Amino acid sequence: MKSVYGPLRSWRLGVAMGVDPICRQPKVCNYKCVYCRLGHGGIMVTERCRFVDERSVLEEARDLLKQHRVDAVEVRGTGEPFLAKNLAEIAKGLRELTDAPICVVTNGSMFCRPDVQSELDSFDIVVVKLDCSDHQTFLAINRPHNSVNYDRMMDFMLRARRSHKGSFRVQVTAVRQNLGEMERIVNICETFRPDVVYLNTPLRSTSSELSRRDLAEVAKLFSAFKVRTVFDGEP
Ligand code: SF4
Repeated sequence: MKSVYGPLRSWRLGVAMGVDPICRQPKVCNYKCVYCRLGHGGIMVTERCRFVDERSVLEEARDLLKQHRVDAVEVRGTGEPFLAKNLAEIAKGLRELTDAPICVVTNGSMFCRPDVQSELDSFDIVVVKLDCSDHQTFLAINRPHNSVNYDRMMDFMLRARRSHKGSFRVQVTAVRQNLGEMERIVNICETFRPDVVYLNTPLRSTSSELSRRDLAEVAKLFSAFKVRTVFDGEP
């Protein structure tokens, strides 16, 4: 496995260099989302650890950026990126290597931690997961560690939205199991006013993914926002 990969065409950001601060197989996360592209196994943790050597990550990133121009750097992990306790050092090092915006894709569950709060402004773009509107559905869809409470998490997510200096975006993964949540998620977005709503569906899942047409119907509900779906840009 490599911590730095690409460049690849990200449906969120264009041509992006990927950085994985976890780099573990099976994944290391504090959720077990029903649709996770990394599979249902994995190690569930809540404490931050140093999973990769930040100097090696930055050397790999330097090499890649010498050879390729990218529109953005996308930090997303084989698990929740903020579980990496050297994430801020990685972001700071990346900042010295490129002028491209640095984005983190996170489940937002660790925004209650002061150390994580202070690290959010290391990123030009924060993309945060929002798949449900109450704790019961949260348990069914995202299957979090039992220390994560939906209402408390949403409270800290809203504080993060208000204090973050860069672009704050929301990613909604629509699956058959949370389709009934979409109107309530739109209501939550009206409070958050995200700069972009990314609408995803797990393309490799056979049981829960939505068709292009179904996701287009979901997108209509979010018409008050700038929306990009996982099918945008596909032939
Ligand atoms: S938060 Fe992301 S990595 Fe973790 S289980 Fe959910 S989809 Fe997988």
